[in-house]
Amino acid sequence: MTDYAQLIDDVEARIQNGGQITTEEAHVLLRVPNEYLMRLTAAADRVRIHFKGNAFDACSLINAKSGHCAEDCAFCAQSAKHSSDCQIYGLVSGDEILKAAEDASQFGASRFCTVTSGGALSEKDFDDLLLTLSRLKKEVDIALDASLGFLDESRAKRLSQAGVSRYNHNLETSRDYFPDICSTHSFEARVNTVETVKKHGMSVCSGGIIGLGETENQRVALAFTLAELGVDCVPINILNPRPGTRLAQQEPLPPMEIVKTVALFRLILPSATIKIAGGRETNLRDFQGLAFRSGANGMIVGGYLTTAGRCVDDDLDLIRQAGFELLRG
Ligand code: SF4
Repeated sequence: MTDYAQLIDDVEARIQNGGQITTEEAHVLLRVPNEYLMRLTAAADRVRIHFKGNAFDACSLINAKSGHCAEDCAFCAQSAKHSSDCQIYGLVSGDEILKAAEDASQFGASRFCTVTSGGALSEKDFDDLLLTLSRLKKEVDIALDASLGFLDESRAKRLSQAGVSRYNHNLETSRDYFPDICSTHSFEARVNTVETVKKHGMSVCSGGIIGLGETENQRVALAFTLAELGVDCVPINILNPRPGTRLAQQEPLPPMEIVKTVALFRLILPSATIKIAGGRETNLRDFQGLAFRSGANGMIVGGYLTTAGRCVDDDLDLIRQAGFELLRG
């Protein structure tokens, strides 16, 4: 019989001393009985404090080009293969992006991310956006992220030169579950973009979305792949099923399942920033505060790509009440 208390204590001590949790241990801890769940979350919280202190990374984003994507990601309202009610528009103006960045800077966000739908932008849109990003770098006091789909070497270099310091490209789910979620591009194509970003000196933001019908083992397999890739920031999105998508009828994950996943991601990725991203409010409901004392140290504030978030002041209050301090840059 597994001695869960001993296992949790051993894993925590090893990680704090620079060691790692094994895949086998993570699989055992996925099945942690309820009475040990808080011991697991407390251990993950201490690991977070040990490696990251109380600095909290709150980023804000703009959906700068929405919908009409040729890819077929099963969860995504922006795929043209789905008949969702998501808004469809081309690249918004530079002024609009600048205004959103100024707002984010004013409310105290750590970073501002410009996101566009689709596999990659056209040359013209990419060039226009580069000019906007260079302008943001000069005029707004906030760290710049971008999430513009697949990147080649030349685009990665130009983004880095324009002042983008972090690039987001999620792996979405585990390597072996990915073909169930997307058939129009491969998991490897996503990994290649992550590696290209690293090569050009930008920090990597890459995570995924849980609750897609993956097994618990597949969930932690994603975390282990992200650890192997050495990513800096890991957004954990939680499926909020969108009408019209292939996963519209997917059962939501119970809040405690999400909290346990956050704790295991922290143990697998001890020095990464772990962000709770889209789906936070609807899925965690009354347990949001607990999730931020279970290993997470970041969130997306002010709304997501195709869904609204909650009031920014409520989120900032939650961050303070949970004992964190907002990171700038
Ligand atoms: S997740 Fe990105 S690539 Fe996939 S369908 Fe949505 S916008 Fe397109």
